[in-house]
Amino acid sequence: MRKVPYFHPESGTYTNRRRWVGLFFFTFLIGVPFIVIDGASLFLLDVVNMEFHLFFRVFPFTQFYVLFGLTIAGVAALIYVTLIWGRVWCGWMCPQTIITDFLRVFEKFWLPRKNIKGVKRYLRLIASYATMTGFVFLVALDVVWYFINPYDFLNRLTTGTLSAFAIGSLLVSFIITWLDMVLVRQSFCEYLCPYAKMQGALFSESTTVVAYDEKRGETDCTQCLMCVRVCPAGIDIRDGLQMSCIACAACADACEPIMAKKGKENLVRYWSAEKIPSLIKDKSLIVAVVGLLATIFVIWQVFFKVDLQVNLSRNPFFTGKIIDGQIVNGYTLVLDNLGSDEKRISVSISPSEFKLLPTVNQYNLKGNETVRLPLMVELPVEMTETGFILVVEDEEGDKKEIKQGFFRVK
Ligand code: SF4
Ligand code: SF4
Repeated sequence: MRKVPYFHPESGTYTNRRRWVGLFFFTFLIGVPFIVIDGASLFLLDVVNMEFHLFFRVFPFTQFYVLFGLTIAGVAALIYVTLIWGRVWCGWMCPQTIITDFLRVFEKFWLPRKNIKGVKRYLRLIASYATMTGFVFLVALDVVWYFINPYDFLNRLTTGTLSAFAIGSLLVSFIITWLDMVLVRQSFCEYLCPYAKMQGALFSESTTVVAYDEKRGETDCTQCLMCVRVCPAGIDIRDGLQMSCIACAACADACEPIMAKKGKENLVRYWSAEKIPSLIKDKSLIVAVVGLLATIFVIWQVFFKVDLQVNLSRNPFFTGKIIDGQIVNGYTLVLDNLGSDEKRISVSISPSEFKLLPTVNQYNLKGNETVRLPLMVELPVEMTETGFILVVEDEEGDKKEIKQGFFRVK
C-alpha cells in the first residue's frame, strides 16, 4: 500500500542514465528477431520448423542441450551480477521495468490533470489508454517474433495467409503483456517474479544496494517524502532494504536536490560494505566458473562444432575374403546430419589401389537424418597395403578423414 501518491520523476542523475540504458536494451530486444544472415537469425526459437537459431547457426530442437547451456550461462551471469551489484538488472535492464517506464511517460503526457474537466478529461483518458495499448501491441508482436520468423510473419500478414496458430499466439501474447504492463506493473516484481524471491539468498554483506543513511537521517532528513513518492515499488527506503526494491535509485535522485539545498550529501545512495567490490570471492567465484564453462560450451557448439558426424566400423562377418583376385573387407559407414539443412555428401578412398563399392558414392542427407551404409573395400591380392583413408566431404568442403585398418586374408 502506497504511503503517498506516486510522482513520476522527469530527470535525475540515475534516472537519466537509466533511460539511456533502457532505450538501448529496448531497441536491442525489439531488433533481435530482425537480425538475420543467410536465413539464420541471431536468436529465434522457431516453433514452426522445430528448430532454433543462435548466432546465425540453425540447430534442430533435438539439440536442446545447446539452449540448456545458454540458459545456464544466462542464469549464472544474472546470479553473478546480483551477488556483486544487487538488483541492478531489475532497475536498469529488465523489460518489465523498461517498458513500464515508457508507459509512465505516455501516462504523464496524456492523463487528465485535476483542472481538466468534462469531455476533455474523458478524451485524454481514452488517448492515454489507446497510446499504451498500441505500444503494448508492438511489444506483444515482438514477443511472437522470437518464435515465428518476423519476415515470414509480415509477409503472410500482408498476403492474408497468417496461420491460426500465429494469430492465436499474438492474441495470447497481447493479453498477457497488456495485463502485465498496464495493470499489474511493479506488483509483478513483488508477488510473481521468481528472481525477486531469490534475492535474499543471493545478497551478501558486500552486495551493492540502494540504502538510506539512518544515522545521518536522524538529523538531516526533512521528512519531505520525495524518496517515497518517486518509488515505483511504493516503498519507503528509510525503513531499510525491502524485497520489492528494484534498485532503480529514483529515491536517491529525489533526495539529491533536497540535500544539495542544505549543502549535504545524499541520504539515499548506492551503498556497499566494500568500496571496490571483489569480483571473485566465495559464491561469486563458483558462479563465475559455472557461467564460464557453460559459455565455452555454447561457443564451441555454435562456432566450432561440425554438423556432420561420421563413423566407420568393420563388418566382422565380412573380413579379408578373396573374390575374383581381390581382397574384400566389409564396413558400415554411419552418416549423422546434426544440422537442419540437407547435405550432399561424397565419399572417396585413398590410396588409389583401394576400390570402394558401391562405386556410386554421393548421398543426399536430409536435416537431422542418420543413415547406415554398407560399404565394401577391395584391394588386389598382390598389393601389400594394410590400411586406407576414407574421405567424407560435404558440398561446403567440410571434410572428415577416417583412417581404417585393412585385413588381408582370413
Ligand atoms: S526504494 Fe528507491 S531504489 Fe528501491 S525501488 Fe524504490 S525508488 Fe527504486
Ligand atoms: S527525500 Fe531525502 S530528505 Fe526527503 S524524506 Fe526522503 S530521505 Fe528524507
